[in-house]
Amino acid sequence: MLGKALSKVIYGLFPTLCQNCGRPLQEEECLFCHNCLFKLPIAKSYCRRCGSLLSESLLDFFDPHTLNYCSHCERENLPYERVFIGFLYREPIKSLIHRAKFREDFILAYQLGKLLKKLSPVNVKDYDYVLPIPLSLKREQERGYNQSLLLLWGLMGFHLPKKILWRIRHTRPQSELSGKERKENVKNVFECREDLSGKKILLVDDIMTTGATLKEASKVLKKKGAKEVHLLVLARA
Ligand SMILES: [Zn+2]
Ligand SMILES: [Zn+2]
Repeated sequence: MLGKALSKVIYGLFPTLCQNCGRPLQEEECLFCHNCLFKLPIAKSYCRRCGSLLSESLLDFFDPHTLNYCSHCERENLPYERVFIGFLYREPIKSLIHRAKFREDFILAYQLGKLLKKLSPVNVKDYDYVLPIPLSLKREQERGYNQSLLLLWGLMGFHLPKKILWRIRHTRPQSELSGKERKENVKNVFECREDLSGKKILLVDDIMTTGATLKEASKVLKKKGAKEVHLLVLARA
């Protein structure tokens, strides 16, 4: 109830024009009008098992609706079972994520979560825990909020998810690093103090690039007994 009331307040207070064509939005629309929503770079051609982007030509041999492994994930021992991606990390989504993350536009981060909900086949009720990728205390204090938590609120309403996953070390932003450095940078950065035996978990994050952060977080959850870890990301770079 509170979530619905707050959504109404936010709808009343904040920009209600389509980010693409400028038309006033209907109450059930979010950021983009219905026409423009389907012109966005919605992620379709990707492996649902590992999240690798696939070329259209590869798609002829790969059914994205089944859980077949693509050639990338066949080579790897992945700590998660499924990946759901909203968008490709392209304009206009790219600029919106940038604003939500670096320009203190936390309402936008919430709205992006609502937008993701429109596209995503995920039912949050299928999971024992839905968790945002945590930030280090230092980064969260600098930014003032965790954009992944705001995404999660957009997805499933305002609530405080149980603190299960901790980021115990402050690291350099992944965006400043190369692929190999990213892996090193997030090594042993997460901690989980909860027994997760048999639990099904959904991890939510804004951008997946090499997937190093999500992989490291999933690994920690698996070590604590999680039965399945699924990833839901707003955009894939
Ligand atoms: Zn529009
Ligand atoms: Zn794959």
